[in-house]
Amino acid sequence: MREKEVHFTLPLGLTDEKGVLHRKGTMRPVTAEDELMLMEANGVKFNDRQRDLELLARLITELGSLKKVDSETLEELFEADFIYLQMLFNSLNEEGTVSYACPRCGTKNQLNMASLFEKAGGEERKESVRFRLPHGSGLKPEMGTKVQGTMDMARCRDFITLYRDSRTRDNPSWFYVGLMTRCVKKLGAEKSVNNSVITKLNPRDFAFLVDLFNELNNGVIRRVTDQCRCGEENRVELHLPGEV
Ligand SMILES: [Zn+2]
Repeated sequence: MREKEVHFTLPLGLTDEKGVLHRKGTMRPVTAEDELMLMEANGVKFNDRQRDLELLARLITELGSLKKVDSETLEELFEADFIYLQMLFNSLNEEGTVSYACPRCGTKNQLNMASLFEKAGGEERKESVRFRLPHGSGLKPEMGTKVQGTMDMARCRDFITLYRDSRTRDNPSWFYVGLMTRCVKKLGAEKSVNNSVITKLNPRDFAFLVDLFNELNNGVIRRVTDQCRCGEENRVELHLPGEV
């Protein structure tokens, strides 16, 4: 292990085509060479998310038993894992550390981002949730029920696709519509969930879906448990970078 390299555990993990889950990995700090690569990549066709993945692919020297970790591999990452890796990156490069005071003894604890999900995480993995719209007007409901549906967790490739489209990239409202269109897999008796179905939603239902999206994708990493040296298990609320 090179100096300052850290071993980390992804909150959810990446599943390969054989169904093997990869959660443990190693990340090294950023170097001047990486920065140079990024500046070169700036002029190329990459969007922000692709650039982030290019950088992460360079810094992640190991991930489970995967033979290689490239940006294409990382496109399959769940959004929650991606946000976690960004936070780990920040803590490695000393741009920001997360600390809190223990409510029992007052000790100021600093969270170790690398080992945050060593014990917890994976088992809470829930790739998809069922929901019932609070309002549900304007849609075809299933027989005799309120409008129900399912939402999948977002992955990096969803964001890459949305950033590629100038309509969604430059307009926050369209960005949310695009996100919901990609992540909501079923909605009442609608044959498919496309932009026009999502834009037909009652504003209250739309806001409900956005909240659900944030909880589903960020909930796992927003609230973490940390043990103080006094023995107290503390629930800590994290502020996430780039939260939608
Ligand atoms: Zn304490």
